Amino acid sequence: MLDASSDRKRVFSMFLDALSTALLQICNEENLSYEAAAEKVGCSPEFFGRIIRKRSSPTITYFERLCRGFERTPNQLLGISDSVDELLHRIPMCVTKMRVIPAANLANPVCPRCNCSLEREYQAFCDRCGQHLLWCRFYRESSIIISSSQEYNEGSATNSSNSR
Ligand SMILES: [Zn+2]
Repeated sequence: MLDASSDRKRVFSMFLDALSTALLQICNEENLSYEAAAEKVGCSPEFFGRIIRKRSSPTITYFERLCRGFERTPNQLLGISDSVDELLHRIPMCVTKMRVIPAANLANPVCPRCNCSLEREYQAFCDRCGQHLLWCRFYRESSIIISSSQEYNEGSATNSSNSR
């Protein structure tokens, strides 16, 4: 019992740390005073300041207001993974691979992030993972991957899998 409750306290204090850090960062980035930030959220500057100093913990309702006020998802507000992942997807990556499938008489560029075949050359984003794509090095530096048709069909709706 004691352990469970001290675990909970630790998680809770991590939550307050993350929230406080994120709020400070937002205030910095957007050049907001506590007053201006509190106004965006719809609370008193004192309460906002107490959250920053980790003296008060927001209720769920208040947490939602923070998200709405700063236009962040809960994960973004707590600095958790998907915002990082989302950011990484927006940094363009060069397409440098071409997948050739002799059995299907196909040649497709390959997404540098998720490795799926891209349907069109020069498309700006991968259809599957949303990665932002650059094509500047494609013709000069692409390497060729020879692939069996089965591999290519993996995960797609095509059903003629054993063409060999
Ligand atoms: Zn992709």
